[in-house]
Amino acid sequence: MDLFAEEQQIYDDAKNHTMDVHNGAVFEFEKYITLANDYGKLLKQLRRATRLADRTTLDLFETNQDLASKVHYDTLTGIYNRRYLDDSLGRIVKSLSRSNGMLSIMMVDIDFFKKYNDTYGHSAGDICLREVAEILSRSITREVDFVARYGGEEFIIVLPHTDEHGSHIMASRLLKNIIERGIPHEQNEVAGCITVSIGVTTVKVRYNHKVEHYVNHADKALYMSKQNGRNRYTFLKFTEPDE
Ligand code: GH3
Ligand code: MG
Ligand code: MG
Repeated sequence: MDLFAEEQQIYDDAKNHTMDVHNGAVFEFEKYITLANDYGKLLKQLRRATRLADRTTLDLFETNQDLASKVHYDTLTGIYNRRYLDDSLGRIVKSLSRSNGMLSIMMVDIDFFKKYNDTYGHSAGDICLREVAEILSRSITREVDFVARYGGEEFIIVLPHTDEHGSHIMASRLLKNIIERGIPHEQNEVAGCITVSIGVTTVKVRYNHKVEHYVNHADKALYMSKQNGRNRYTFLKFTEPDE
């Protein structure tokens, strides 16, 4: 119903009555009563419409908040996504560069995952990805550390204020935790269960560094792990971009 049209109608009626009175026409009291009632009804409708608008605004606000909180999470695994990684890594590097702080980055890739999908099906592959994400997340204990899904079956782990020694400990722990879960993978050429390969790099962050350099470095290290037999980690010393 069009409330504005209704209001206009009431307004027109009131104007006509006023003119009737002014022109000396017979004053009909009932008409005024009807008019007042119409106004009363309209007011009620307006109040209802306002309440509805308020509720819609609140719903929209909650939906927005919900969307904002989801935008940084990967829908399949529930861990942080690439977008969060890009946003926060930039911030972390900027902050660490002020104090030349240490940063370790790991790239983790599931071994022979295509064969896993081929053997057990894509849905089982999805479940496996969730499980690996969960193991990685549980393996990091400090609040400043985080793991994100980089894409496909690749994950990145960011460890601020972690030196080379710390990153070795963390990488060994990850390999052990994955193996110990014993997710069956009969086509894995290096073990009977799911394994991962890891590339690790540690840097003393400087203002002229770029985040991509770190990620590329971890990726190079990961490639070496794949080349050297998988189910292992490789530490690759970070080389300064100007060297
Ligand atoms: P490598 O040991 O060299 O890493 O071999 P790989 O088979 O793991 O690597 P490759 O890059 O050839 O295959 C990655 C596979 O990951 C292929 C793709 O179908 C699968 N994959 C990527 N994203 C998803 C996903 O969201 N769900 C499932 N089930 N599979 C995925
Ligand atoms: Mg891969
Ligand atoms: Mg792989």
